Formats: sequence, C-alpha cells, structure tokens
Amino acid sequence: MSFKAMPSTKDFTPVRERQPKVGISACLTGQQVRYDGGNRYHQLIQQELAPWLNLQSTCPEVEAGLGIPRPPVQLVKKSEIILALGVEDDTLNVTKGLVDTSKHLSGSHCKGLSAYIVKARSPSCGAGSTPIHDIDKHQIKLGDGLFVQALKTAHPHILIMDESSFSDIQVCREFVVRCYNLQGYQLHQKTSCN
Ligand code: SF4
Repeated sequence: MSFKAMPSTKDFTPVRERQPKVGISACLTGQQVRYDGGNRYHQLIQQELAPWLNLQSTCPEVEAGLGIPRPPVQLVKKSEIILALGVEDDTLNVTKGLVDTSKHLSGSHCKGLSAYIVKARSPSCGAGSTPIHDIDKHQIKLGDGLFVQALKTAHPHILIMDESSFSDIQVCREFVVRCYNLQGYQLHQKTSCN
C-alpha cells in the first residue's frame, strides 16, 4: 500500500480492527509504568504511528506483578544464565516471574502482531541494547531484555523496532508501510492455509 494513497490523518477515521496490530512497550505511550513511576512518552510515535496502527501496549514488569514504583533491576550473566537482579540489592531476584510472564505475554498478547516497538536498554524490553553485567556489576556486552528474548523465541520472524530508531517522520512512514505489507502477507498466508 502506498502511503500517498492513504487519506490525511486529519480526516482519517480509524478502523482499528483493520489496521496492522503492533505491540509497544507501554511506557512509550505515556503510561506511568516505569520503575520510578514515570513514562517515556514518544511524541513521534504517538503523532506519526498511532493514527495508522492498532497499537497494543503492555508492560512486562507490571504484568509480572513487580509494582509501581519498584526497585530497578539489571541483567547479570552468571554461569551462562541471564538473571534479573536488583541494581541496589542483588539479593532481589525477579528472573522467574519475568521469564514466566514474558513467555505468557509472547503467546497471548503477541498473537497476530505484525511488529513490536520496544523501549531501548530496558532489562525487559530492550532489543540488542540492554546492558548485560558480570557478577561484579561490570557491563560485559549488550543484549536482549527478557521479554524480547521470549518474543523472539515465540515469533522468530516478527519485526522488532527500537524506539530510538524513530528519529524522523520518514522513518515512521516507512515503518507504517512495512507493517501494512506484513499484515497483507500474514492475511495471505492465513487464507492460503485454510
Ligand atoms: S518493562 Fe518495558 S514497558 Fe515496562 S517500563 Fe520497562 S521498558 Fe517500559
């Protein structure tokens, strides 16, 4: 679908059910779900993507019952296993709750999604941007947050975009077009399988 063929956002009446479903980290939509009770509202996403896409938001850490506010956590590699431990108190281990919730969300919340927009550097939502530490709290590399790990396992081909990629209107428009193309491909696959 050509972007030019679309009506202007001014007189566009959203028909949400027909728009591509795209997951998004809830804090990017302005929801006060971060560990400190704040959000990371992303104006371009709201202005340039929200009118065209059926955005489905969730916060894996809130869904895991960690509360708002909550102690910040970071990813720590210990004997080849990635743990989510408290930044200030490393006896706080929320790995199991986050992993279980992430697997659950990847199955239910992510069904039928064309893409996912994630918050950079988060121990849950980061995609290739999350700091991984050793047990002495030194950063050893960047990787995926626990939710994104589960998302990639459940949906290996899903398009994942880091919020920091949406730096200008052109990038946003190209993403919308990609989502409509992906939705078309998914519908085609579904009908040819029936
Ligand atoms: S877990 Fe994800 S959605 Fe929740 S506050 Fe952190 S980055 Fe945002």
